Amino acid sequence: MNELAQTLRNAFGQMIVNPEPDFEYAAAIADQAIRSMSQQAVPPTPNNYEVWFTYSLGASTDLKGAIDTLIGHGQTFDASVNRELFLTHIRSDAAATAIFQQLQAVMVRAREFLKTAICDNQTQIDSLRHVSSEIDVGKDPQLSIKCLVDELSKAMIRASTLEASFARTSQEMETIRATLQKLERHSNTDALTGLANRRALDEFLCTAQISAVKERDPLSILLVDVDHFKAFNDSFGHQMGDQILRLIAKVLRNCVRAGELPARYGGEEFMVVLPRATLRSSQELAERIRCTISECRLTRRSTGEFLSTMTVSIGAAQLRAGESLADLIQRCDRALYAAKRAGRNQTIADN
Ligand code: GH3
Ligand code: MG
Ligand code: MG
Repeated sequence: MNELAQTLRNAFGQMIVNPEPDFEYAAAIADQAIRSMSQQAVPPTPNNYEVWFTYSLGASTDLKGAIDTLIGHGQTFDASVNRELFLTHIRSDAAATAIFQQLQAVMVRAREFLKTAICDNQTQIDSLRHVSSEIDVGKDPQLSIKCLVDELSKAMIRASTLEASFARTSQEMETIRATLQKLERHSNTDALTGLANRRALDEFLCTAQISAVKERDPLSILLVDVDHFKAFNDSFGHQMGDQILRLIAKVLRNCVRAGELPARYGGEEFMVVLPRATLRSSQELAERIRCTISECRLTRRSTGEFLSTMTVSIGAAQLRAGESLADLIQRCDRALYAAKRAGRNQTIADN
């Protein structure tokens, strides 16, 4: 059982024995959640409420630590922070619990199915043994045939009941498969480049921000956008364009150190999250990335024919005290577009 489920069970466990005090307890937690949300100007949506109820309950030490750190440093609970708190601390638990419960139900049914099948098999053997002993003692063969037919028709009824149970179990397995597929879509990797996808990036950024605030460490980000990518696609085709994105992903992977995260931010845009990096060191890394990419010569693999070179523009920004992630990203995006306006193939840092 996960931590949240366990703590909820502990917190509400007494309610079954003594409903009154626990109702009051739950109501007090709800009041406290609403009060804290209003103090932090968090909109009272169902998702936010679930986050803050869990926080007030003290049900998850991770969530409590994250929120306390953000409050302690005067952080604004804007839409992106609220969303990340929900995705990281509430939804991931719920999805895992749902799968776990579905699997448990199927296991119970599969066990019942096997038990019934084994019992039926035994009953059938016993019945046939009985009929054959009746034949042995030389009874009327008509009677023996009737017994045999009766037993066979009983066996057919049992078989069709088992078949229905089997079909139900298969249906449940199918539901689990669909749920797993859904979870996979929410998983962490971008299929084209193999880099972290947007969801994983958001989670990483949120954790990095909390840790930066707590440890008073710098945190910087880069936004990397391919120059004139539309024209490249138009000239060489979408598939070659995809190769470029894979190539850029490879350069990013090779340039970062452990603990840093390159991610696909969207179409032909990438983000690199650099915990503990100052603006200056993030700018140096950005330049290494930019130069490496500009030195790549794109050739057609089948013929070796030279196709093109490729450049990127990069924006860099360092988190400011009390700043939200949305504002940090917006500043970085502005720096990126300044680099585009200034002629592309360059890095601009937002100071
Ligand atoms: P700029 O230098 O101003 O960034 O120009 P640009 O052409 O790179 O930018 P624009 O936003 O006009 O076009 C982005 C292009 O990126 C258009 C879109 O078709 C392409 N693109 C987005 N995602 C993918 C992808 O996954 N694969 C390929 N091949 N192309 C993509
Ligand atoms: Mg572009
Ligand atoms: Mg773009």
